[in-house]
Amino acid sequence: MILTINCGSSSLKYRLYNADLTEVVATGLVARIGEDGAYSKHTAGDKEVFFRGPIADQKAAFDIMAENLMQSEFAVIDGPEAVTAIGHRAVHGGDVFVESTIVDGSVMEQLRACVRFAPLHNPSNIAGIEECRRRFPDVPNVVVFDTAFHQSVPPEAHVYALPYELYADHGIRRYGFHGTSCRYVSQAAADILNRPIEDLAMVVCHLGNGVTLDAVKGGRSVDTSIGFGTFCGVPMGTRSGDFDPAIIFHLVKEMGMPLDEVEALCYERSGLLGVSGVSNDMREVVMRADAGDERCALALNIFIYQIKKTIGAYAAAMDGLDALVFTAGIGENSTEIRSRICEGLGVLGVRIDERTNLLVQDGHPNISAPGASVATLVVPTDEERMIALDTVRLVTESGRMPPPIASQALVHAHDA
Ligand code: AMP
Repeated sequence: MILTINCGSSSLKYRLYNADLTEVVATGLVARIGEDGAYSKHTAGDKEVFFRGPIADQKAAFDIMAENLMQSEFAVIDGPEAVTAIGHRAVHGGDVFVESTIVDGSVMEQLRACVRFAPLHNPSNIAGIEECRRRFPDVPNVVVFDTAFHQSVPPEAHVYALPYELYADHGIRRYGFHGTSCRYVSQAAADILNRPIEDLAMVVCHLGNGVTLDAVKGGRSVDTSIGFGTFCGVPMGTRSGDFDPAIIFHLVKEMGMPLDEVEALCYERSGLLGVSGVSNDMREVVMRADAGDERCALALNIFIYQIKKTIGAYAAAMDGLDALVFTAGIGENSTEIRSRICEGLGVLGVRIDERTNLLVQDGHPNISAPGASVATLVVPTDEERMIALDTVRLVTESGRMPPPIASQALVHAHDA
Protein backbone atom coordinates (compact mmCIF):
# COMPACT_ATOMS: atom_id res chain seq x y z
CA MET A 1 0.00 0.00 0.00
CA ILE A 2 1.09 3.56 -0.62
CA LEU A 3 0.71 6.23 2.06
CA THR A 4 0.75 9.95 1.33
CA ILE A 5 1.45 12.52 4.01
CA ASN A 6 0.80 16.25 4.01
CA CYS A 7 2.12 17.53 7.30
CA GLY A 8 1.60 21.23 8.05
CA SER A 9 2.28 23.23 11.17
CA SER A 10 -1.21 22.65 12.57
CA SER A 11 -2.59 19.83 10.45
CA LEU A 12 -1.79 16.35 9.20
CA LYS A 13 -3.52 14.91 6.16
CA TYR A 14 -2.95 11.34 5.11
CA ARG A 15 -4.26 9.00 2.47
CA LEU A 16 -3.68 5.29 2.01
CA TYR A 17 -3.92 3.80 -1.49
CA ASN A 18 -3.76 0.22 -2.64
CA ALA A 19 -0.54 -0.72 -4.47
CA ASP A 20 -1.66 0.17 -7.99
CA LEU A 21 -3.47 3.34 -6.89
CA THR A 22 -6.82 2.21 -8.18
CA GLU A 23 -8.41 2.55 -4.76
CA VAL A 24 -8.23 4.98 -1.84
CA VAL A 25 -8.31 2.67 1.18
CA ALA A 26 -8.42 5.34 3.90
CA THR A 27 -8.07 9.09 4.33
CA GLY A 28 -7.61 11.18 7.42
CA LEU A 29 -7.23 14.69 8.71
CA VAL A 30 -5.86 15.79 12.06
CA ALA A 31 -6.59 19.50 12.42
CA ARG A 32 -5.82 22.39 14.76
CA ILE A 33 -2.86 20.52 16.25
CA GLY A 34 -1.65 22.30 19.39
CA GLU A 35 -4.65 24.66 19.28
CA ASP A 36 -8.07 24.86 20.90
CA GLY A 37 -10.69 22.87 19.04
CA ALA A 38 -8.32 20.16 17.79
CA TYR A 39 -10.01 17.22 16.08
CA SER A 40 -9.40 14.30 13.78
CA LYS A 41 -11.46 12.60 11.13
CA HIS A 42 -10.67 9.25 9.58
CA THR A 43 -12.55 7.63 6.71
CA ALA A 44 -12.17 4.05 5.50
CA GLY A 45 -14.78 2.81 3.05
CA ASP A 46 -18.14 3.79 4.53
CA LYS A 47 -16.76 4.06 8.10
CA GLU A 48 -15.97 7.41 9.64
CA VAL A 49 -14.23 8.01 12.97
CA PHE A 50 -14.20 11.44 14.63
CA PHE A 51 -12.17 12.54 17.61
CA ARG A 52 -12.36 15.89 19.36
CA GLY A 53 -9.97 16.74 22.17
CA PRO A 54 -6.49 18.02 22.85
CA ILE A 55 -3.84 17.05 20.26
CA ALA A 56 -0.61 18.44 21.66
CA ASP A 57 1.81 18.19 18.77
CA GLN A 58 2.71 16.45 15.54
CA LYS A 59 3.83 13.32 17.35
CA ALA A 60 0.35 13.05 18.89
CA ALA A 61 -1.17 13.58 15.43
CA PHE A 62 0.90 10.71 14.02
CA ASP A 63 -0.17 8.54 17.00
CA ILE A 64 -3.79 9.16 15.97
CA MET A 65 -3.02 8.29 12.35
CA ALA A 66 -1.22 5.09 13.36
CA GLU A 67 -4.05 4.09 15.67
CA ASN A 68 -6.68 4.74 13.00
CA LEU A 69 -4.81 2.86 10.30
CA MET A 70 -3.44 -0.05 12.30
CA GLN A 71 -5.10 -0.52 15.69
CA SER A 72 -8.64 0.82 15.86
CA GLU A 73 -11.69 -1.28 15.18
CA PHE A 74 -11.66 0.25 11.69
CA ALA A 75 -7.99 -0.62 11.06
CA VAL A 76 -7.24 -1.25 7.41
CA ILE A 77 -3.72 -2.69 7.76
CA ASP A 78 -2.11 -5.07 10.26
CA GLY A 79 1.10 -3.14 10.78
CA PRO A 80 3.72 -0.83 9.26
CA GLU A 81 5.04 -3.63 7.01
CA ALA A 82 1.87 -3.33 4.91
CA VAL A 83 3.05 0.08 3.68
CA THR A 84 5.45 -0.24 0.75
CA ALA A 85 6.24 3.43 0.15
CA ILE A 86 5.38 6.83 1.59
CA GLY A 87 5.08 10.09 -0.36
CA HIS A 88 5.39 13.45 1.37
CA ARG A 89 4.38 16.91 0.33
CA ALA A 90 7.10 19.50 0.89
CA VAL A 91 6.38 23.14 0.34
CA HIS A 92 9.79 24.46 -0.64
CA GLY A 93 12.61 22.76 -2.48
CA GLY A 94 14.57 25.97 -3.17
CA ASP A 95 16.50 25.75 -6.44
CA VAL A 96 18.05 22.47 -5.30
CA PHE A 97 15.11 20.21 -6.02
CA VAL A 98 13.82 20.36 -9.58
CA GLU A 99 11.78 17.19 -9.20
CA SER A 100 10.51 14.70 -6.65
CA THR A 101 13.14 12.55 -5.00
CA ILE A 102 13.66 9.53 -2.73
CA VAL A 103 14.65 10.62 0.77
CA ASP A 104 18.13 9.80 2.06
CA GLY A 105 20.52 11.49 4.48
CA SER A 106 21.75 14.09 2.01
CA VAL A 107 18.20 14.92 0.88
CA MET A 108 17.28 15.54 4.53
CA GLU A 109 20.27 17.86 4.86
CA GLN A 110 19.30 19.79 1.74
CA LEU A 111 15.71 19.96 2.96
CA ARG A 112 16.90 21.54 6.19
CA ALA A 113 18.90 24.04 4.14
CA CYS A 114 15.63 25.03 2.41
CA VAL A 115 13.95 25.90 5.73
CA ARG A 116 15.21 29.48 5.35
CA PHE A 117 12.89 29.85 2.33
CA ALA A 118 9.77 28.50 4.05
CA PRO A 119 10.27 28.81 7.81
CA LEU A 120 6.56 28.28 8.48
CA HIS A 121 6.13 25.18 6.36
CA ASN A 122 9.30 23.18 5.75
CA PRO A 123 10.00 22.33 9.42
CA SER A 124 6.63 20.54 9.66
CA ASN A 125 7.26 18.75 6.38
CA ILE A 126 10.64 17.57 7.71
CA ALA A 127 9.10 16.51 11.04
CA GLY A 128 6.55 14.44 9.09
CA ILE A 129 9.29 12.61 7.18
CA GLU A 130 11.19 11.96 10.41
CA GLU A 131 8.07 10.56 12.10
CA CYS A 132 7.49 8.23 9.15
CA ARG A 133 11.11 7.05 9.05
CA ARG A 134 10.77 6.13 12.73
CA ARG A 135 7.35 4.51 12.54
CA PHE A 136 7.77 2.74 9.19
CA PRO A 137 11.40 1.58 9.29
CA ASP A 138 12.86 0.39 5.96
CA VAL A 139 9.95 1.87 4.01
CA PRO A 140 11.19 4.26 1.29
CA ASN A 141 10.03 7.86 1.57
CA VAL A 142 9.62 10.16 -1.42
CA VAL A 143 9.36 13.91 -1.18
CA VAL A 144 7.34 15.92 -3.70
CA PHE A 145 7.92 19.67 -3.81
CA ASP A 146 5.37 22.41 -4.41
CA THR A 147 8.13 24.49 -5.99
CA ALA A 148 9.65 21.84 -8.27
CA PHE A 149 7.22 22.19 -11.20
CA HIS A 150 8.10 25.89 -11.47
CA GLN A 151 11.84 25.31 -11.77
CA SER A 152 11.28 25.39 -15.55
CA VAL A 153 10.17 29.06 -15.38
CA PRO A 154 12.82 30.88 -17.48
CA PRO A 155 15.18 33.48 -15.98
CA GLU A 156 13.35 36.50 -17.42
CA ALA A 157 10.31 35.40 -15.41
CA HIS A 158 12.02 34.15 -12.25
CA VAL A 159 14.84 36.66 -11.68
CA TYR A 160 13.72 39.91 -10.03
CA ALA A 161 15.25 43.17 -11.29
CA LEU A 162 17.19 43.57 -8.04
CA PRO A 163 20.99 43.51 -7.66
CA TYR A 164 21.98 40.27 -9.34
CA GLU A 165 24.02 39.04 -6.35
CA LEU A 166 20.82 38.62 -4.35
CA TYR A 167 19.77 36.05 -6.90
CA ALA A 168 23.12 34.41 -7.55
CA ASP A 169 24.45 34.31 -3.98
CA HIS A 170 21.30 34.21 -1.86
CA GLY A 171 18.68 32.42 -3.96
CA ILE A 172 16.32 35.41 -3.98
CA ARG A 173 14.03 34.75 -6.96
CA ARG A 174 10.53 33.69 -7.92
CA TYR A 175 9.91 30.10 -6.81
CA GLY A 176 6.16 29.68 -7.15
CA PHE A 177 3.91 27.33 -5.18
CA HIS A 178 1.00 24.92 -5.73
CA GLY A 179 3.22 23.23 -8.33
CA THR A 180 1.98 19.73 -7.51
CA SER A 181 -1.60 20.82 -8.11
CA CYS A 182 -0.74 22.69 -11.32
CA ARG A 183 1.22 19.70 -12.68
CA TYR A 184 -1.66 17.32 -11.92
CA VAL A 185 -4.35 19.61 -13.29
CA SER A 186 -2.51 20.55 -16.49
CA GLN A 187 -1.88 16.88 -17.34
CA ALA A 188 -5.48 15.97 -16.47
CA ALA A 189 -6.71 18.83 -18.69
CA ALA A 190 -4.65 17.55 -21.64
CA ASP A 191 -6.10 14.07 -21.01
CA ILE A 192 -9.65 15.46 -21.03
CA LEU A 193 -8.96 17.30 -24.28
CA ASN A 194 -7.31 14.17 -25.65
CA ARG A 195 -4.39 16.24 -26.90
CA PRO A 196 -0.68 15.91 -26.19
CA ILE A 197 0.27 18.31 -23.42
CA GLU A 198 3.36 19.23 -25.48
CA ASP A 199 1.05 21.01 -27.97
CA LEU A 200 -0.87 23.08 -25.44
CA ALA A 201 -0.51 26.54 -23.92
CA MET A 202 -2.71 26.79 -20.84
CA VAL A 203 -3.36 28.94 -17.85
CA VAL A 204 -4.15 26.98 -14.72
CA CYS A 205 -6.16 28.96 -12.16
CA HIS A 206 -5.68 27.25 -8.81
CA LEU A 207 -8.22 29.25 -6.82
CA GLY A 208 -8.43 28.05 -3.24
CA ASN A 209 -7.56 29.63 0.06
CA GLY A 210 -4.17 30.03 -1.58
CA VAL A 211 -4.19 31.19 -5.21
CA THR A 212 -1.76 30.43 -8.01
CA LEU A 213 -2.10 31.30 -11.65
CA ASP A 214 0.29 29.28 -13.74
CA ALA A 215 1.26 29.57 -17.39
CA VAL A 216 1.93 26.04 -18.61
CA LYS A 217 3.34 25.68 -22.12
CA GLY A 218 4.16 22.26 -23.55
CA GLY A 219 3.65 20.74 -20.10
CA ARG A 220 6.22 23.03 -18.46
CA SER A 221 5.52 25.88 -16.09
CA VAL A 222 6.79 29.05 -17.82
CA ASP A 223 5.46 31.70 -15.43
CA THR A 224 3.63 31.61 -12.14
CA SER A 225 1.99 34.21 -9.95
CA ILE A 226 3.43 33.42 -6.52
CA GLY A 227 7.02 34.51 -6.05
CA PHE A 228 9.61 34.32 -3.29
CA GLY A 229 7.23 34.40 -0.34
CA THR A 230 3.72 33.02 -0.54
CA PHE A 231 1.73 36.24 -0.32
CA CYS A 232 2.31 37.78 -3.72
CA GLY A 233 0.53 37.32 -7.04
CA VAL A 234 -3.26 37.42 -6.90
CA PRO A 235 -5.07 38.26 -3.61
CA MET A 236 -5.96 35.17 -1.56
CA GLY A 237 -8.06 34.38 1.52
CA THR A 238 -5.83 36.28 3.93
CA ARG A 239 -2.77 37.05 1.78
CA SER A 240 -2.47 40.34 -0.03
CA GLY A 241 -1.24 39.42 -3.49
CA ASP A 242 0.98 41.97 -5.26
CA PHE A 243 1.15 45.52 -3.96
CA ASP A 244 3.71 48.28 -4.19
CA PRO A 245 6.59 47.36 -1.81
CA ALA A 246 7.00 51.08 -1.04
CA ILE A 247 3.97 50.58 1.21
CA ILE A 248 6.13 48.42 3.48
CA PHE A 249 8.66 51.26 3.92
CA HIS A 250 5.78 53.61 4.64
CA LEU A 251 4.24 51.28 7.23
CA VAL A 252 7.56 50.82 9.00
CA LYS A 253 9.10 54.29 8.73
CA GLU A 254 6.11 56.62 8.73
CA MET A 255 3.60 54.61 10.73
CA GLY A 256 6.07 52.91 13.08
CA MET A 257 4.71 49.44 12.48
CA PRO A 258 7.06 46.67 13.66
CA LEU A 259 8.28 44.47 10.83
CA ASP A 260 6.75 41.33 12.32
CA GLU A 261 3.41 43.07 12.27
CA VAL A 262 3.85 44.06 8.63
CA GLU A 263 4.60 40.44 7.85
CA ALA A 264 1.46 39.25 9.68
CA LEU A 265 -0.53 41.95 7.88
CA CYS A 266 0.61 40.68 4.46
CA TYR A 267 0.09 36.98 5.20
CA GLU A 268 -2.80 36.89 7.66
CA ARG A 269 -4.84 40.08 7.56
CA SER A 270 -5.07 40.99 3.88
CA GLY A 271 -6.70 39.49 0.81
CA LEU A 272 -10.43 38.77 0.96
CA LEU A 273 -10.38 39.15 4.74
CA GLY A 274 -8.48 42.45 4.70
CA VAL A 275 -10.69 44.16 2.13
CA SER A 276 -14.04 42.72 3.21
CA GLY A 277 -13.31 43.06 6.91
CA VAL A 278 -15.42 39.99 7.57
CA SER A 279 -14.08 36.75 6.15
CA ASN A 280 -11.38 34.95 4.22
CA ASP A 281 -13.97 32.43 3.08
CA MET A 282 -15.09 33.10 -0.46
CA ARG A 283 -18.57 31.64 0.14
CA GLU A 284 -19.24 34.16 2.86
CA VAL A 285 -17.77 37.05 0.87
CA VAL A 286 -20.00 36.18 -2.11
CA MET A 287 -23.06 35.80 0.10
CA ARG A 288 -22.57 39.18 1.74
CA ALA A 289 -21.70 40.88 -1.55
CA ASP A 290 -24.98 39.54 -2.97
CA ALA A 291 -26.76 40.97 0.08
CA GLY A 292 -25.36 44.42 -0.66
CA ASP A 293 -22.18 44.59 1.44
CA GLU A 294 -19.98 47.02 -0.51
CA ARG A 295 -16.65 45.96 0.93
CA CYS A 296 -17.36 42.31 0.17
CA ALA A 297 -18.31 43.33 -3.37
CA LEU A 298 -15.03 45.25 -3.65
CA ALA A 299 -12.99 42.29 -2.33
CA LEU A 300 -14.65 40.12 -4.96
CA ASN A 301 -14.09 42.66 -7.73
CA ILE A 302 -10.39 42.97 -6.88
CA PHE A 303 -10.01 39.19 -6.84
CA ILE A 304 -11.66 38.77 -10.24
CA TYR A 305 -9.88 41.75 -11.83
CA GLN A 306 -6.41 40.58 -10.80
CA ILE A 307 -7.08 37.08 -12.09
CA LYS A 308 -8.33 38.36 -15.47
CA LYS A 309 -5.31 40.61 -15.81
CA THR A 310 -2.93 37.77 -15.06
CA ILE A 311 -4.64 35.44 -17.55
CA GLY A 312 -4.16 38.12 -20.23
CA ALA A 313 -0.51 38.57 -19.29
CA TYR A 314 0.15 34.85 -19.45
CA ALA A 315 -1.57 34.47 -22.81
CA ALA A 316 0.82 37.17 -24.07
CA ALA A 317 3.81 35.48 -22.39
CA MET A 318 2.97 32.17 -24.12
CA ASP A 319 2.14 33.70 -27.54
CA GLY A 320 -1.37 32.29 -27.31
CA LEU A 321 -3.78 30.28 -25.27
CA ASP A 322 -5.34 26.89 -25.92
CA ALA A 323 -6.91 26.14 -22.56
CA LEU A 324 -8.02 27.90 -19.40
CA VAL A 325 -8.32 25.51 -16.46
CA PHE A 326 -10.06 26.17 -13.14
CA THR A 327 -9.31 24.16 -10.03
CA ALA A 328 -9.31 24.14 -6.17
CA GLY A 329 -12.14 25.19 -3.82
CA ILE A 330 -13.26 28.34 -5.61
CA GLY A 331 -12.30 27.26 -9.14
CA GLU A 332 -14.11 23.94 -8.85
CA ASN A 333 -17.21 25.11 -7.00
CA SER A 334 -18.10 28.66 -7.90
CA THR A 335 -20.11 28.93 -11.11
CA GLU A 336 -20.41 32.67 -10.58
CA ILE A 337 -16.71 33.40 -10.15
CA ARG A 338 -15.75 31.30 -13.17
CA SER A 339 -18.34 33.14 -15.16
CA ARG A 340 -17.21 36.58 -14.01
CA ILE A 341 -13.53 35.79 -14.71
CA CYS A 342 -14.33 34.62 -18.23
CA GLU A 343 -16.54 37.64 -18.97
CA GLY A 344 -14.56 39.93 -21.27
CA LEU A 345 -11.90 37.36 -22.07
CA GLY A 346 -13.48 36.86 -25.49
CA VAL A 347 -10.60 38.92 -26.82
CA LEU A 348 -8.38 35.91 -26.05
CA GLY A 349 -10.86 33.40 -27.49
CA VAL A 350 -12.34 32.42 -24.11
CA ARG A 351 -16.10 31.93 -24.27
CA ILE A 352 -18.02 29.70 -21.93
CA ASP A 353 -21.41 28.04 -22.12
CA GLU A 354 -23.28 29.29 -19.07
CA ARG A 355 -25.54 26.26 -19.00
CA THR A 356 -22.63 23.80 -18.98
CA ASN A 357 -20.93 26.00 -16.40
CA LEU A 358 -23.81 25.06 -14.08
CA LEU A 359 -23.40 21.34 -14.80
CA VAL A 360 -19.75 20.90 -13.88
CA GLN A 361 -20.55 18.85 -10.77
CA ASP A 362 -22.52 16.45 -12.99
CA GLY A 363 -19.40 15.50 -14.89
CA HIS A 364 -19.12 18.20 -17.56
CA PRO A 365 -15.55 19.48 -17.22
CA ASN A 366 -15.49 21.31 -20.56
CA ILE A 367 -17.51 24.50 -20.16
CA SER A 368 -16.45 26.19 -23.42
CA ALA A 369 -19.09 27.60 -25.71
CA PRO A 370 -19.38 25.82 -29.06
CA GLY A 371 -16.76 27.19 -31.45
CA ALA A 372 -14.66 28.91 -28.77
CA SER A 373 -10.99 28.83 -29.74
CA VAL A 374 -9.90 28.36 -26.12
CA ALA A 375 -11.08 25.31 -24.18
CA THR A 376 -12.25 26.29 -20.69
CA LEU A 377 -12.18 23.38 -18.26
CA VAL A 378 -12.94 22.69 -14.62
CA VAL A 379 -10.65 19.98 -13.26
CA PRO A 380 -10.70 18.88 -9.60
CA THR A 381 -7.19 18.97 -8.25
CA ASP A 382 -5.71 15.95 -6.49
CA GLU A 383 -2.29 16.69 -5.04
CA GLU A 384 -2.32 13.45 -3.05
CA ARG A 385 -2.72 11.40 -6.18
CA MET A 386 0.13 13.25 -7.88
CA ILE A 387 2.31 12.57 -4.82
CA ALA A 388 1.30 8.90 -4.86
CA LEU A 389 2.05 8.61 -8.59
CA ASP A 390 5.53 10.12 -8.16
CA THR A 391 6.15 7.88 -5.16
CA VAL A 392 5.26 4.70 -7.03
CA ARG A 393 7.28 5.76 -10.09
CA LEU A 394 10.45 6.63 -8.17
CA VAL A 395 10.36 3.67 -5.81
CA THR A 396 9.68 1.28 -8.70
CA GLU A 397 12.49 2.78 -10.79
CA SER A 398 14.86 2.40 -7.84
CA GLY A 399 14.06 -1.32 -7.72
CA ARG A 400 12.68 -1.13 -4.16
CA MET A 401 9.20 -2.08 -5.24
CA PRO A 402 7.91 -4.29 -8.08
CA PRO A 403 6.01 -2.44 -10.79
CA PRO A 404 2.28 -2.24 -10.05
CA ILE A 405 0.02 -4.41 -12.15
CA ALA A 406 -2.73 -1.97 -13.13
CA SER A 407 -1.94 0.99 -15.36
CA GLN A 408 -1.76 4.28 -13.49
CA ALA A 409 -3.94 6.69 -15.34
CA LEU A 410 -3.84 10.15 -13.81
CA VAL A 411 -7.46 10.52 -12.77
CA HIS A 412 -8.72 7.21 -11.50
CA ALA A 413 -8.80 6.35 -7.82
CA HIS A 414 -12.22 6.07 -6.21
CA ASP A 415 -12.52 8.10 -3.07
CA ALA A 416 -12.71 6.32 0.25
P1 AMP B 1 -9.34 25.21 -0.89
O1 AMP B 1 -8.19 25.94 -0.26
O2 AMP B 1 -9.00 24.64 -2.24
O3 AMP B 1 -9.96 24.18 0.02
O4 AMP B 1 -10.50 26.30 -1.17
C1 AMP B 1 -11.10 26.99 -0.12
C2 AMP B 1 -11.88 28.15 -0.69
O5 AMP B 1 -12.87 27.66 -1.60
C3 AMP B 1 -12.64 28.93 0.39
O6 AMP B 1 -12.47 30.32 0.17
C4 AMP B 1 -14.08 28.54 0.14
O7 AMP B 1 -14.99 29.56 0.50
C5 AMP B 1 -14.07 28.38 -1.37
N1 AMP B 1 -15.25 27.69 -1.86
C6 AMP B 1 -15.62 26.41 -1.66
N2 AMP B 1 -16.85 26.19 -2.23
C7 AMP B 1 -17.24 27.35 -2.80
C8 AMP B 1 -18.39 27.78 -3.53
N3 AMP B 1 -19.39 26.97 -3.81
N4 AMP B 1 -18.44 29.07 -3.94
C9 AMP B 1 -17.44 29.94 -3.66
N5 AMP B 1 -16.33 29.59 -2.99
C10 AMP B 1 -16.23 28.32 -2.55
